Amino acid sequence: MASRYYVRRARGGKDDAAIETALEDKWDAIRRGDKVQIEPSSLRRSHRPGKDRVDIQPDHVDFLEKNDYTQSPVPIQAAVRVLHAQGLFARFHIAVSEDTLSIQAITTERAGIEVRSAEGVASQRELATMGSTGPVPAPEQPCEAIHEALETLPLLDSPVEVPFADGLYFFYEEGEFSDHAPNGRIVRVGNHPRRQGGLVSRLRMHYSGNKNSSVFRKFLGGALLRRANPADPCLSPAPGKGHWESGNAKACLRCRPTEARVSELLRQRLRFRCVRVPDMTERNRLEALLVATVAACDVCRPSPSWLGLQAYSEKVRASGLWNSQYVGDATIDQSNLNRFQELVSGSLERFGRLKKNM
Ligand SMILES: [Zn+2]
Ligand SMILES: [Zn+2]
Repeated sequence: MASRYYVRRARGGKDDAAIETALEDKWDAIRRGDKVQIEPSSLRRSHRPGKDRVDIQPDHVDFLEKNDYTQSPVPIQAAVRVLHAQGLFARFHIAVSEDTLSIQAITTERAGIEVRSAEGVASQRELATMGSTGPVPAPEQPCEAIHEALETLPLLDSPVEVPFADGLYFFYEEGEFSDHAPNGRIVRVGNHPRRQGGLVSRLRMHYSGNKNSSVFRKFLGGALLRRANPADPCLSPAPGKGHWESGNAKACLRCRPTEARVSELLRQRLRFRCVRVPDMTERNRLEALLVATVAACDVCRPSPSWLGLQAYSEKVRASGLWNSQYVGDATIDQSNLNRFQELVSGSLERFGRLKKNM
């Protein structure tokens, strides 16, 4: 888990200077919570890719995902020193790939943390009201607890079985298991983020809407088309760019039958569970944390034949979830996990004693 780095004792190097230069006109964007990607020209090329979440404080930095911060890639440590020197005391996601470094503050909206400037470090009391202030465990531990909690709830086949109007839903798919979930791992977490009372209609959109009413259907249909024929004209000119997978283009005569195949797939191979979360802010926060946590779990990997491996979204393929938003974001902390478990118990009462097994 977390390790502590005393940044005031640290010395900067060549990477620090390169990152500082590349960020010169991007400080406002970072303060706004935007994801900033830079390609510092002189960043050393020999580093390995990786990501970390860090909590930058006035005299030290907690590397939230590593027992030993030296395991975090060198450019990430450099970025931390540069952010600290700017007085940006906040939590950040920092990731480095071959030649790109991306930095994003974990904002209030996403995870209950505000970017604090050097002048206005939030008081402990303010922090307490913002939620997520405790240490964040590695994703495997909460992922197992999330699966276990959900298993107490009935598996549903149809939106009409949902006994409440507001909540999150969790899809399961035939053939997809893990050590955390021998009876079936979560393959999608979903929400109705912008309006109240929309849980059932959201699920209906998945089961019987069309690809333009549901990104889930778009993913499923695109993967079905690609599995049948990677060169399908409805997917060209490129993954994610064809008329089936991109924008709001209409299905053509050729891919229109795919809509029926998506509905059939949902009815035959997928089932779901629902958790009642009446408060919209809380629901949206938990959605983001749950997606990120299950996506980051190294135990819950897709089977080699999982349909999602044919999806155009790299995030779907990498996470093993039919989700792209929030993949790679902040994972859940203990207090939000406790709250989720409470909400699951509350939901169980709504279902009464009726229980099904997969
Ligand atoms: Zn088509
Ligand atoms: Zn897991």
